[in-house]
Amino acid sequence: FLYVYFLVDASHSVTEPNFNISKQCLEVIITRIASFDVPIRFSVISYASRPKTIVDIQDDIAEDTEIVIEKIQNEMNYKDHGNATGTNIQDALDSVYQMMINEKAFTKVPWDKIRHAIILFTDGKSNMGGSPTKAVRSIEDFLNVRANRKDYLDIYAFGVGTVDVDWSAMNEIASKKPGERHAFKLNDLKELKAAFEDVLDPRDLHDICGLANNSDSASWEQKNPWHTLTEPSCRGALISKTWVLTSAHCFSKFNNTAGWTVILEKGRRIDHELFNVKAKVAQGIQEFYDYDLSLLELEKPVQFGGRIRPICLPCTEGANRALKMKPGATCKDHELQLLSLEEVDAQFISLDNKRMGRPTCISAALQDKKMFSEGTDASEVVTDRFLCSGGGRAVEAATCKGESGGSLFVERRERLFQVSEPLNVSRPCHGETRETVRDPPPANHKPRDFYISLFGVQDWLRQHLGQSLRFIPKE
Ligand SMILES: [Mg+2]
Repeated sequence: FLYVYFLVDASHSVTEPNFNISKQCLEVIITRIASFDVPIRFSVISYASRPKTIVDIQDDIAEDTEIVIEKIQNEMNYKDHGNATGTNIQDALDSVYQMMINEKAFTKVPWDKIRHAIILFTDGKSNMGGSPTKAVRSIEDFLNVRANRKDYLDIYAFGVGTVDVDWSAMNEIASKKPGERHAFKLNDLKELKAAFEDVLDPRDLHDICGLANNSDSASWEQKNPWHTLTEPSCRGALISKTWVLTSAHCFSKFNNTAGWTVILEKGRRIDHELFNVKAKVAQGIQEFYDYDLSLLELEKPVQFGGRIRPICLPCTEGANRALKMKPGATCKDHELQLLSLEEVDAQFISLDNKRMGRPTCISAALQDKKMFSEGTDASEVVTDRFLCSGGGRAVEAATCKGESGGSLFVERRERLFQVSEPLNVSRPCHGETRETVRDPPPANHKPRDFYISLFGVQDWLRQHLGQSLRFIPKE
């Protein structure tokens, strides 16, 4: 359980424009924390010489992200504090202390299990009520923050905008923990976002899919923790502790699986039984890629952490929580949520490890003579399970040979969902391991790529993954 208390300085020294930036920061932070799937309550207080409670930690709505944000927008105003020249941080912290006392008396949650974060937006300057450290002490004592309970309280001080911060005051209020920063001066919302990603490194959050660290300072693996390299031929996507989803053709074309030994030494591989690249040769279709899917079962379950984490597989309970959909939602609901528009902005990961944009298209341009000979019925080649992508905007972002097996994914509510998997693509790109050069297509050639929709292979996924992922009803 996580309780977050926001204290927003509305005093003269901060000024109204900076107060308004702080309000926007609150929205950003609340939305991001809510994407972490932990049970959470928010409290919001603005203050100058006196505190004003916008949301009490005990309020029923304290756990409802959207209403908390609405109340901040509508009920938290700089003018509420009149022309007060006073700034009383001690008093504001004392309101948090009082809230904690009341909450402890009434909550049904085991009090010792609750982590508390107090986040001040302030310049640190206070001229009333005495030193804020007194209030901090009372809170520490009340929460019993000893050596082995240091994780149960964090106090952050953010100065945002053009505020002139008093660093020694900021540092005095903020928690002091080795290797962690708790006091910040940030110029704008963008800097706040980046700093907050560092504060909230999701490494401690287990069993949560589709979560990446978006901090500027995060490593590539932290930003794309599900993406697996399966040299020499393909890429794959981690979907649970033991399973990687990839393309079946990776194995049929490259019989030498030496490059896979890292993950497959003693693991198991399940190819989709209906995949057969030569299935329609008689009909003039030299290569047929329907059902081009394989599951790789790892020998040992991986440990999730900041660098290794699964992407959300639609139609599972994990994806349902990430989408913030009600229990009882169906696979159909997920499909509508993730692929509802005619054009969906989806991304894949290139050979040189960049995320690339990928608008989908509706009409298929069947120009690949290997896949389509003259007069071929397009529906024979491109079945219901295919998603098609490409179009005018996509020239720079066509998939290259070697990128198949990876994931085509969509971002919703700050989480990532795999909707399909890139198929074999014959387009060679230069420099497959370093900087990939994507050749512009020949004149009059519309680049199109094809993907297997995971919504079209639900039975197969459920049959093999039912033990390690919890699926929701199909309809
Ligand atoms: Mg002030």
